[in-house]
Amino acid sequence: MHWLFGDQLGPHFLTPGEEGPGPETPLLMIEARSVFRRRRFHRAKAHLVLSAMRHRAAEPGDRVTYVRADTYRQGLARTARGRPVGVHHPTSHAALRLVRALPQVTVGPARGFLVPMTGFAAWAEGHGGKRLRQEDFYRWVRRGHGLLMDGEQPAAGRWNLDHDNREPPPREAASLQVGRPYRPREDDIDEEVRHDLDRCERDGDVSFVGRDGPRLFPATRTEGLRALRRFVEHRLATFGPYEDAMLAADPVMSHSLLSSSLNLGLLDPVECVERAERAWREGRAPLNSVEGFVRQIAGWREYVWQLYWYFGEGYRRSNALGHTAPLPDWWNRLDADAVRANCLRTVLAQVRDTGWTHHIPRLMVLGSHALQRGWDPAAVTDWFHRCFVDGYDWVMLPNVVGMSQYADGGRMTTKPYTSAGAYVNRMSDLCGPCGYRPGDRTCEHACPYTAGYWAFLDRHRELLAGNQRVARPVRQSDRLADLPDVCAQEHARGDAPP
Ligand code: FAD
Repeated sequence: MHWLFGDQLGPHFLTPGEEGPGPETPLLMIEARSVFRRRRFHRAKAHLVLSAMRHRAAEPGDRVTYVRADTYRQGLARTARGRPVGVHHPTSHAALRLVRALPQVTVGPARGFLVPMTGFAAWAEGHGGKRLRQEDFYRWVRRGHGLLMDGEQPAAGRWNLDHDNREPPPREAASLQVGRPYRPREDDIDEEVRHDLDRCERDGDVSFVGRDGPRLFPATRTEGLRALRRFVEHRLATFGPYEDAMLAADPVMSHSLLSSSLNLGLLDPVECVERAERAWREGRAPLNSVEGFVRQIAGWREYVWQLYWYFGEGYRRSNALGHTAPLPDWWNRLDADAVRANCLRTVLAQVRDTGWTHHIPRLMVLGSHALQRGWDPAAVTDWFHRCFVDGYDWVMLPNVVGMSQYADGGRMTTKPYTSAGAYVNRMSDLCGPCGYRPGDRTCEHACPYTAGYWAFLDRHRELLAGNQRVARPVRQSDRLADLPDVCAQEHARGDAPP
């Protein structure tokens, strides 16, 4: 018997290979209720995960035994009854501990990523203790997989086209005017899931945050492939230039919306990057967009996965800045209406309504606010995990603990990612209608991001003054005559919604 976790749903988890199931091996899936009791998930995320698992089990002609149980252990005991069970390496430390503790279970290598963990460990060792850099890793993956390569050289002689991909949004445009992203249509399985979740909530068994709307993300392989095709044909060409830009009325812009399908295992990252490369080779998309997309998947996604295992369990408890403040209630409730700052209000509403925003709102609006307020990085990580449709332990830890909250003291990034309101103003249309002014640090119209940025630098000046990438703004802050007022004002703000 072979056990498929709920994020191992695509055909690449069944192809023969090391420790894979044979063509006749019975398959087991366990829907464990305890998962939803442990945390207050976004309703759209709970819906997506259950819908995807149940759709997978209902695929015609398949050999899945689908068990609903309180815990994984109970589901396994009831179905396998001591018989040997195989499983692919799960995606969290907790799940790995569980399967390793079960004597009847044999754990095979992970699938759904480009590089085996042993390959990454060897690559990292080759660095002889020096800082690991995503850019070096990404080039190594491209060489190893022949991705966007012309022989030994990168396509068109360049590894990195990032500087073509940092455009602010087009002026005076409310949206990017690109083809609409793929959205699935709900079916009977979704109706059943919605009914079950309603009942659990009514019984007081679980509670959720966020709005329950029509399902927006693929739950089946067929839907995932449609989303990929639509993206490559209609949106990839414009992915690059505006990758970092934000528009209030167009939250998706040219982003692919493929993260949840990749993380559920519906799509294989290999097929995503190969299709993108083919689009470039056939003249259907420019290199900066294709390289940008390939970098996200073969670079960032892969790197984050590898670092999760490489840094180990203790990484979760990193707190280099000593941030301990709890998350305020309005934040936990996704109460966007309580917020006046237009950028945060808009982005929090996107999360409340869909369980998704693209990477810049996550990093430079949500994460930046949490960092400036000094919120406990473990609580921030847990919040992202629960509230995003694509959130899983492996992807949250490096992205939030490392990239967004700098809680690892710089193991993953070279500087804390936070900024004054000027950055949001340059990269979005969110500041125009806002009651705060990005240039103001104090008084009535002081932008909470601008004031929060200077107060953050001041609080951590000792640690940051030694960091080449932020030493300059730290020195600049020394010349701000109103810095004590800014800090006092920020202190007084407490955890009230800005
Ligand atoms: P696109 O912009 O179209 O990018 C293409 C793909 O690249 C994504 O689908 C995703 O699979 C991959 N990717 C790009 N960057 C990353 C990254 N840093 N880590 C992992 N994959 C990446 N991504 C998640 O999949 N799950 C998360 O829980 C998650 N949490 C994040 C939290 C923070 C604070 C930040 C800064 C980033 C986080 N990301 C996460 C990465 C990124 O924001 C999302 O993958 C992306 O916004 C998903 O939208 P998309 O599919 O349209 O991505």
